Amino acid sequence: MIKAVRGTRDLLPPETGLWNFVEAKVREVMRAYNFQEIRTPIFESTELFARSVGEETDIVSKEMYTWEDRGRAESDKGQSLTLRPENTAGVVRAYIEHKLWDRGLNKLYYIGPQFRRERPQKGRYRQFYQIGAEVIGPSTAGSESPARDAEILEMLATLLDCLGIKGWTLQLNSVGCPADRARFNAALKEALAPVAAQMCEDCQRRAVTNPLRVFDCKVPEDQSIIEKLPRISQFLDEACRKHFEEVQAILKGVGVPFTLNDRLVRGLDYYTRTAFEFTTEGTLGAQNAILGGGRYDGLSEALGGPAAPGIGFAIGEDRLVMSLAESAPVVAQKPDVYIAPLGAGMNVEAAKLARQLRSEDLIVELGDETFRLKKSFDAAAKLGARFVLIVGENEVKAGTFALKNQETGEQVSLTREELIAYLKKILKKADNH
Ligand code: AMP
Repeated sequence: MIKAVRGTRDLLPPETGLWNFVEAKVREVMRAYNFQEIRTPIFESTELFARSVGEETDIVSKEMYTWEDRGRAESDKGQSLTLRPENTAGVVRAYIEHKLWDRGLNKLYYIGPQFRRERPQKGRYRQFYQIGAEVIGPSTAGSESPARDAEILEMLATLLDCLGIKGWTLQLNSVGCPADRARFNAALKEALAPVAAQMCEDCQRRAVTNPLRVFDCKVPEDQSIIEKLPRISQFLDEACRKHFEEVQAILKGVGVPFTLNDRLVRGLDYYTRTAFEFTTEGTLGAQNAILGGGRYDGLSEALGGPAAPGIGFAIGEDRLVMSLAESAPVVAQKPDVYIAPLGAGMNVEAAKLARQLRSEDLIVELGDETFRLKKSFDAAAKLGARFVLIVGENEVKAGTFALKNQETGEQVSLTREELIAYLKKILKKADNH
């Protein structure tokens, strides 16, 4: 048997209903904050991720799905391609390619699959879905303003509340500008030099290649050493400190609670200043980070574009849906009406009625004229249909149809016109319960 590839999975109904619910809510909230959708390709040149995410990161160094794509003609040269491990790089590439700075401040969101060759476990997949947004534009359009950071964070708090996600925590930090990071890195290296040998293998490597990453370490024995290391907060210059204070002041003003966490450095090279994560309690366990994001003021330039400060986030949609499913059981979709055609020639009549009822926004399932009545009723029961409508030769001739309420067992005889009015009234009433 051929199965789905390790780390990938099928999303089946009724769970897909929950995914649709989440995405509809997201689109509604995004709209209120004047974000618009962008769709970028799911594969890009490998170079894009190497230059943006960074060669030293786990993502680029070991988690990307990369292949050599051969060209089909002289003019179509082969090149190294990669399934996107995240979507910010693609959005910023599109910003540069389409000169989106002409539009001033861009507020863009995306929903789509991302790919990383991670060790699969609950809440961690090799194809997973992210809902993300980016605010990017020239500095003169206000892209650098702490008001943008606060707006995004407040939007996320609103979204999580709207969705009914309980017990979230906003972890907030500033990772400063590149100059701050350089001084911090130097200090970290110095502090790590005498102790690195006592740490885990990963940390020993990080201490040399990318000391910041030491803060990602989860090995319990390393924690007492990490606790004593210098923190980025001690290295912020005046402008970064003021920027961060303003973000916090607005959040306090609008009543969004947060926790300062100066161990939060985030996984990617391109982050500057504000960095954040939302975590949840619950059964997500170690994978409790439901979303992450931050500022990336130098990213556009790193990709050969103009200066274009920006800030964004990515929500792990798989994890979001999982924590929703914990609090609210998924409800399967059920037909309002199951139409049972009875006897030769009745499929046409049933189809006509179905068309009419569906145009009135009812969920309609159709049987087949070869089914005996009992088989139709069994099929309707299996689907959980609320009503069964019988369409036989006699009914068509008389112009009245038998409609049976599956819950109460009550049966009525109605004309086409009465049928629609009756169903709409009774189904609407039931919806209000
Ligand atoms: P990142 O791009 O690493 O900051 O990830 C942003 C969010 O995407 C995380 O907070 C997770 O919720 C989610 N995420 C990242 N990697 C995975 C994965 N392999 N499987 C499921 N969700 C993931």
